[in-house]
Amino acid sequence: MTSPEQSPSELPSGSPNRKYRLLRWVLVIGLLAWLGHGPLIDLLAGHSARRSLAGESLSTEANDLLTRCLEDLPPGPLVDFHAHLAGRGPDSGCWVNPRLLSPLHPRDWVRMRSYLSAAGLGPESPDSAWIEGLAGLARARQRPALHFLLAFDHRYSTQGLRDLEHSEFYVPNEYAHAAAEAYSDVFRCAISVHPYRTDAVQELERWAAQGVRLVKWLPGAQGMDPASPLCDAFYRALVAQDMVLLVHCGEEQAVDAEADQELGNPLRLRRPLEAGVQILVAHCASSGSALDLDVGGAHPPRVDCFDLFLRLMGEKAFEGQLWGEISTVTQVNRYSNALSVLLEREDLHSRLVNGSDWPLPAVNVLYQTRALKSAGFITAEEREILNEIYHHNPLTFDLALKRVVRSPKTGARFAPQIFTCLGPLR
Ligand SMILES: [Zn+2]
Repeated sequence: MTSPEQSPSELPSGSPNRKYRLLRWVLVIGLLAWLGHGPLIDLLAGHSARRSLAGESLSTEANDLLTRCLEDLPPGPLVDFHAHLAGRGPDSGCWVNPRLLSPLHPRDWVRMRSYLSAAGLGPESPDSAWIEGLAGLARARQRPALHFLLAFDHRYSTQGLRDLEHSEFYVPNEYAHAAAEAYSDVFRCAISVHPYRTDAVQELERWAAQGVRLVKWLPGAQGMDPASPLCDAFYRALVAQDMVLLVHCGEEQAVDAEADQELGNPLRLRRPLEAGVQILVAHCASSGSALDLDVGGAHPPRVDCFDLFLRLMGEKAFEGQLWGEISTVTQVNRYSNALSVLLEREDLHSRLVNGSDWPLPAVNVLYQTRALKSAGFITAEEREILNEIYHHNPLTFDLALKRVVRSPKTGARFAPQIFTCLGPLR
């Protein structure tokens, strides 16, 4: 596991020190990429070894910890609402913007390369390697699990025109659906439909007829504004079809433009909520800040997205309709912001669901168990065992870590039902 020279909890996000370190890191990686050292980048980012796939067994201590993690969960499979798919195509229909695959854009290149190889997609692998790799890990888990595979639509303009140049990547609904059918023991399908498409409602209805109920949006990257009246027909169709929207809120790393970043403002969800849409907020909006639109005026203050998410969760009208999804909250870039509050707010646990944000659990650099130990979320002994589990199966690690972490202040843990909860899809 990576050991930071300084615990991230000591560095307020956005501090000049942190920004400088990030810039330095990007420059070094960019230079390596430029020189053609792709494999070195993989080494620096680090990936889980996945020893479970080689049939290796865990130590007694690790097995004991996993037993404790699983024994008090309610019956039923583990549920993961957030597993990405991606691929380079062309046969699969998947597509990645060539910009993200070019070392001329080092930041994008590093990010995409890191995701692809964490998911098991080498430079020559077919796109199916992603699906097979995830299915293998899912089947190697100690308990049956269902992972929702996320399709990903293009970016569209407000005129309903596809904007290929500014799209990040594309995963067809057909592709996610076919994977879920082929591996129905471990996968379910989540489609992605841009609400500005002229055929958006028909596309929703087409998949609803096939039993799909989850729809994924990433507003900052895909360019939809949840607060726009352009989405109203889409919201009516979601409600009519009893479908659920999984929306990324908070800072989106892939987005530079401030206006696009603002699309991840949790308060923009008031419009679909008031239209009756069931919403899962990805990552509980645990990063970034946004304008406090409730204050209004010409210069509304900036508030942490996580606090805006909590504000919405606190509104009586949205109970039973608004849910939080906890993927990535234990990652190094997020835990200091939201983890202890989420653990301590036990009143919200019945409205939380789990997600892995696959393939991020396989990117070593995002998990710093040493920092979690220093901050009091886990013990030194737990850290050792979790590190072993990490290299056995990153999906098992993601679950075990979330089951083990406790509030340094109160000792509160995540409630067991979060990990088997189907939330609004019950
Ligand atoms: Zn995600």
